[in-house]
Amino acid sequence: KLHNTIQELKGNIRVFARVRPPSSSEMSADGGSGALATEFPNSGELLGRGLDITVPGSLTGQAPQRHSFAFDKVFGPAAGQGAVFEEISELIQSALDGHKVCIFAYGQTGSGKTYTMFGNDDNRGIIPRAMAQVFESSRSLGKQGWRFAMQASMLEIYNEDYKDLLARKKLPDGRSHKVVHDTNGGTSVSDLTLIDVNTPQDVEELLSRAMEKRSVGCTQLNEQSSRSHAVFTLRIEGTNDSSKLKVSGVLNLIDLAGSERVKESGATGQRLKEAQAINKSLSALGDVIVSLANKESHIPYRNSKLTWLLQPCLGGDAKTLMFVNISPTSDFAPESLCSLRFAAKVN
Ligand code: ADP
Ligand code: MG
Repeated sequence: KLHNTIQELKGNIRVFARVRPPSSSEMSADGGSGALATEFPNSGELLGRGLDITVPGSLTGQAPQRHSFAFDKVFGPAAGQGAVFEEISELIQSALDGHKVCIFAYGQTGSGKTYTMFGNDDNRGIIPRAMAQVFESSRSLGKQGWRFAMQASMLEIYNEDYKDLLARKKLPDGRSHKVVHDTNGGTSVSDLTLIDVNTPQDVEELLSRAMEKRSVGCTQLNEQSSRSHAVFTLRIEGTNDSSKLKVSGVLNLIDLAGSERVKESGATGQRLKEAQAINKSLSALGDVIVSLANKESHIPYRNSKLTWLLQPCLGGDAKTLMFVNISPTSDFAPESLCSLRFAAKVN
């Protein structure tokens, strides 16, 4: 029963850590796994809840420092996309039952956020798998008289501005997207393109259209680094013809901008502005989750465009899951430590 008590105290916020495998260049540069900052005693797949990380002395000029963390789940480098999805499919299912769900990927650039959320053709990530599951379940619920209408949208938040990734044409000058909070606790975004989706193919098409439009910048850390948050939203309206029951659920799947601190990118000018916007919104997200976990009376949703957009899906009986993505090598250990500390704070 202890388990239940812990779950009740924690409410509806979960944190999963995922450590990506070292790339082939990381392997050869360091002569193999000797330079990894994380340790994997078993197959390196599902590690249970503990994650230890060692910051090498060479980076700090001090003795090596070992830090231990615990999360709801920890996935090691050998954990494939299917194994990760298995652990979240129940959460996806709850959106069909009428829940509001948010799944975030947090971590430094290159740590595996986009891989986790989107994946690639050979290793599909959470979004395409979630869509396949949603469509399949809605078909089988159809046999019990349920009909579902689903609408998808995809936007990005770049420099604290919303940008519609599915818009066919630009907004007229002087007009910008605004979040509108309605009286029954929902939000909508003005002028946002909503697309009816009925098949996984509909979603695939929409995603490739959106990804083409996503802002990418060049930092010294990673040429393709994403400086924006990408928010994929699926709205699900279900009606049962015989029982007249209605459900409405929302699934938000969010690929956050890189969490690395500004100075590491050697940023100036436009890059500095981007980094400051990212810092602001990520710390606002952390603050919101922490104050929800502490059941505080004031939740600072208004402090960023990200939290303001997602307000109805954070808190209340909404379900939130954050992936903290980690690079495995020692070089990145200080940055990984920052990410793990952030995640431990919200967990
Ligand atoms: P981010 O979006 O956090 O910047 P990416 O998702 O682009 O990072 O990942 C960086 C690189 O590592 C990509 O080439 C990606 O394919 C690879 N990668 C990330 N996570 C994994 C994983 N779990 N297994 C295999 N390759 C991965
Ligand atoms: Mg990315």
